[in-house]
Amino acid sequence: MITRIASHHVVDRDGNDSPATITVEAGRIRTISEGIDPEAELVDEWILPGYVDTHCHGGAGADFTDPDHEAALRAVRYHRSQGSTTLFASTVTAAIDDVVTQIGRLRRLVDSDEVAGIHLEGPFLAESRKGAHAVELLCDPDPVSVDRLIEAGGSALKMVTIAPERAHGLEAVATFSRAGVHAAIGHTECDNVTASAAVNAGADVVTHLFNAMPSIHHRQPGPVPPMLTDTRVVCELICDGVHLAPDVIRMAMSTAGPQRIALVTDAMSATGQPDGDYILGSLPVKVLDGKARLVAADGSLGAIAGSTLTMGRAVEFVTSVVGIPLGQAAVMAATTPAKLHGLDAVGVIEEGRWADLCLTDAKGHLVRVIRRGEAV
Ligand SMILES: [Zn+2]
Repeated sequence: MITRIASHHVVDRDGNDSPATITVEAGRIRTISEGIDPEAELVDEWILPGYVDTHCHGGAGADFTDPDHEAALRAVRYHRSQGSTTLFASTVTAAIDDVVTQIGRLRRLVDSDEVAGIHLEGPFLAESRKGAHAVELLCDPDPVSVDRLIEAGGSALKMVTIAPERAHGLEAVATFSRAGVHAAIGHTECDNVTASAAVNAGADVVTHLFNAMPSIHHRQPGPVPPMLTDTRVVCELICDGVHLAPDVIRMAMSTAGPQRIALVTDAMSATGQPDGDYILGSLPVKVLDGKARLVAADGSLGAIAGSTLTMGRAVEFVTSVVGIPLGQAAVMAATTPAKLHGLDAVGVIEEGRWADLCLTDAKGHLVRVIRRGEAV
């Protein structure tokens, strides 16, 4: 158990680092004092807030839609060991009845404080931007389905990805937002006007910006420019070196800044596992060199199917490859997603919050994880 820990680089809510000593009591941060207390354990690493991954489908061979509770716990523990001291469980597209059943099971993980919330990715997605979602199960967010999901999820349901151009799309955005569920624009064919209309209706986050949506064109801007520039919107980015080129990440950073970017993994069950054959939802996926791709009926490889990313590697990638300062990477990995979802006991190294800490070297490489004052 950690009681007093100090570093020359303790990162604050704005991403600035300074020498500080943290004391921990009953799993929470009791005090933070400037400078190095000689009684404390002085570490060489930077101390960052524990990472908050709000888009994660599984890991360690387990998928959050798997009915096996122990398997889901295995995925939680794996991601925790890789820096995600706070985690959402994400579903993939399924029939509404099945999604309701999955929500029921996942609520056990929320009630037992293993995950902080549920994110539904699908079934209200665009067929033309389905990614690794089963096309025959995609559907419109009709009011009856929306109400069923809100009722099934209760306060555990935190976010739903919606293609706002679908019939009832804007209405669904408004209904989810009113119910306290963040409506995320994603897997969409929408144009800039529809994307902004969705934000006006209450959407405040974009699911893996750039991926599974129209690219920027100077005469047909698509959803990316208004979402990057609208100060009401947080943009998820998958920074694994596969989904986005470093130049694109730098452009997003200079436009939206770390306060409006949330690093997510979008990790699938193969995360932390060897290359091979896996299932995402109901679809076969092959992982080669850590890259997950859908497998077509003829065996050829199709769309990128989630990632095998961890939050630890995401922070390291944006720091050491993209060149973003480590403190700002910490804001994107922890502070911004926690703030968006009202998780006020995590996301910042601050008195009274959980002692959830990620210790990294100066290039962002994860060395040690502490959750609620205990070594993970
Ligand atoms: Zn996706």
